[in-house]
Amino acid sequence: MIEKEGLKTEIISLFLNNLPIVFNPNLSQRKETMKRTFSIIGAGLAGCVIARKLADEGHKVVLYEKEHIGGLCRDNENYQEFTHIFHTNKKEIYEYIKQYAEIRPYIHFVMSYTNGRYYLFPPEQMTDELFNRLMVGYSLKMWGDLPSEEARNRIKHTNGSYFNDIYQGIINFRQLFSNLTKNITIIKNKIGCYHLLDGEIILTGAIDEYFDYCFGNLPYAGMKSTHCKSETRLPVGAIHFPDMNDPYVRMIDYDKYGYKGGYIGIEFPDKSAKHYPVRNELSMKLYNKYKKIADKEGIILAGRLGTFSYFDIDTTIINALEVAKCIL
Ligand SMILES: Cc1cc2nc3c(=O)[nH]c(=O)nc-3n(C[C@H](O)[C@H](O)[C@H](O)COP(=O)(O)OP(=O)(O)OC[C@H]3O[C@@H](n4cnc5c(N)ncnc54)[C@H](O)[C@@H]3O)c2cc1C
Repeated sequence: MIEKEGLKTEIISLFLNNLPIVFNPNLSQRKETMKRTFSIIGAGLAGCVIARKLADEGHKVVLYEKEHIGGLCRDNENYQEFTHIFHTNKKEIYEYIKQYAEIRPYIHFVMSYTNGRYYLFPPEQMTDELFNRLMVGYSLKMWGDLPSEEARNRIKHTNGSYFNDIYQGIINFRQLFSNLTKNITIIKNKIGCYHLLDGEIILTGAIDEYFDYCFGNLPYAGMKSTHCKSETRLPVGAIHFPDMNDPYVRMIDYDKYGYKGGYIGIEFPDKSAKHYPVRNELSMKLYNKYKKIADKEGIILAGRLGTFSYFDIDTTIINALEVAKCIL
């Protein structure tokens, strides 16, 4: 009788997870032996969050990383490789991260430096003149294109700070990735479709690169960065440089983010970096060609590069946890 009740509970939970229900009196025993093997390509935020969830559920997980654990979300005790401010309105995501890492309280302020003076960004009111002054050159340098009306509408009205979200701060990325990947095997290697991997494959790396660019290159915009120690401080955490004759687009004062050593980060546009997927009709057509072969081969796509979408930290975690939930 007790056993029957246990079985009933399991069947209900399978039903709630939308999995096919198979009546089997040995279900508990079967579940024990249903350990699966996953090969996850990319140990950035998406790959590590999925890996943690699958490993916690008792599955065998191997992470493959070609460069750096943490992907774009990397820091040392002096600075971040690229500026990353955590911001979200979702308490559960804030608490998810807090399980693994400290989040230093920080409110982000941004200014634009153009024509010899500083402007608060976003300005209290975006007039046409300010739009041209603050947005046009920045967009041309970053995207090689004029800013769209949509970009103008996306600029949020704040009370001076850059983000409106309830939860904001600086994540200790070293702690986050060390804890997310605890007891998970990580193999340093660049993986392509020509590699034979064990088990089910989850791709969080660039889909065009994985398939050896067989249909052509997907378009991305990106940055490169350099860092230097400085005695001089910037007036706020980040300065945008929209003037075309300044080669950089942003400077970051990592002292303001709470890092040690007084470092300034300088970020330049870099056409070879796969950072921001450029989504338009043509690129989405190309992406869907790659996705078709991935689907056919049963490869699960996740993260910024696997799905060819821009995700902030919070949406990356939401997407990664959803992917893990669908798999399980
Ligand atoms: C410049 C910049 C600034 C940003 N600032 C913010 C911010 O302030 N706040 C915020 O919320 N979000 C920010 N983001 C977004 C944030 O970086 C992403 O949400 C996050 O990095 C996505 O994680 P990911 O794992 O999908 O991608 P990635 O971090 O790119 O990780 C992918 C990993 O896969 C590896 N890889 C790729 N291909 C292969 C392969 N073939 N074999 C093996 N390994 C492979 C890569 O080396 C990389 O480590 C910013 C993004 C950029 C580009």
